[in-house]
Amino acid sequence: MTVAIGGSHKTTSLSSLEPCPAHSSVRARNVSFSRRRCLKVRAGSVPAAPSYLSELRETAAYISKRGRGILASDESNATTGKRLASIGVDNTEDNRRDWRELLYTAPGLGQYISGAIMFEETLYQSGADGTPFVDTLKKQGIIPGIKVDTGLAVLAGTDGETATQGLDNLGQRCADYYRQGARFAKWRAVLKIGEGCPSTTAILENAHGLARYAQISQENGLVPIVEPEVTLGPGDYGIEETAYWSERVYSHVFRLLNEYNVALEGILLKPNMCLPGLDAPNAKPQEVAKYTVQTMRRTVPAAVPGIHFLSGGMSEEEATLNLQALQEEDPDAPWSLTFSYGRALQSATLKTWGGEASNKDAAQDILVKLAKANSEAQLGQFKGPHPTPGGERILQALRTGGSGK
Ligand code: 13P
Repeated sequence: MTVAIGGSHKTTSLSSLEPCPAHSSVRARNVSFSRRRCLKVRAGSVPAAPSYLSELRETAAYISKRGRGILASDESNATTGKRLASIGVDNTEDNRRDWRELLYTAPGLGQYISGAIMFEETLYQSGADGTPFVDTLKKQGIIPGIKVDTGLAVLAGTDGETATQGLDNLGQRCADYYRQGARFAKWRAVLKIGEGCPSTTAILENAHGLARYAQISQENGLVPIVEPEVTLGPGDYGIEETAYWSERVYSHVFRLLNEYNVALEGILLKPNMCLPGLDAPNAKPQEVAKYTVQTMRRTVPAAVPGIHFLSGGMSEEEATLNLQALQEEDPDAPWSLTFSYGRALQSATLKTWGGEASNKDAAQDILVKLAKANSEAQLGQFKGPHPTPGGERILQALRTGGSGK
């Protein structure tokens, strides 16, 4: 049996612990509490730090640098197909490649973006001039990342809730991705709010999956993005309810991360902001920030370097204004409160491109402007105007059922 003491990766076996002599005569009902508090680790009994520990810390610190965020561009081929279909472009490997090349070669993107999450196909692709995408990104100062989950499957015993798949062969795949140049990973767990949801079964199963994934990623040199998304969905539930469930989910996730000896300095968290249900009136940025910061403060240890929020269907402007409000709500936050946006960076970029080579510069210009706006919001310095003001929620072409994001 292993027991976590004093933090994420300082663990030892129960047999190597000894009670503090000063508490050996405490009254029976206090024995176990006092012994637990006074357990001492025998010299030499703490396992050696994971071989990648210092690299993991450096990677996580780099990605979560103030004023930077992540470009989430790891849509599966099926989801990318839906996005391309929305601009009348066929879902071929070349077209997917052209789209990702447009994103990764945007001039100046690396000033605002420190990591890009890729789908497996993209990790191994090269641009039109033969430069591998991992090199294109590195030249921009952007660390390549990889989505390692393989999608969602319905969880037996629940009302259509899901468990994220992909633990099989994960160690081998992570080692391969590391060799290809990836230095961080992503695994998305989805919890929905509704009648009886999220269920305890779904919370425990998804926390377990995230913790096992994080442990395996770290063992293979990849910083795990831990993404427990309490997803924005239908319903007239209020923001307090989202905050309640988010708190419950994240506290289970961190409990399991500790149980599985995950080094918290070498992870990044990717949560949802707290928003009311889609059928309730929307909340102002200050209210979103209040409940989101409260949830983070209650559940996320200060050892975690970065909290990279997903955009989750928010409009591009909403995602930026809410990010700005978070800094105003908690200017002394111990973590970087920043972004890992997919739709809120890509949607207008995709529309501007429209699949036409002649629109490439304009599309890249929009992408960099959106990244800059969010970078300023991360620093608490966004003053507007927003590059794509007043847009709609981006709920279309969300995700494909079984194949993940
Ligand atoms: P959105 O920002 O579009 O929600 O995507 C982020 C992401 O990577 C979800 O897994």
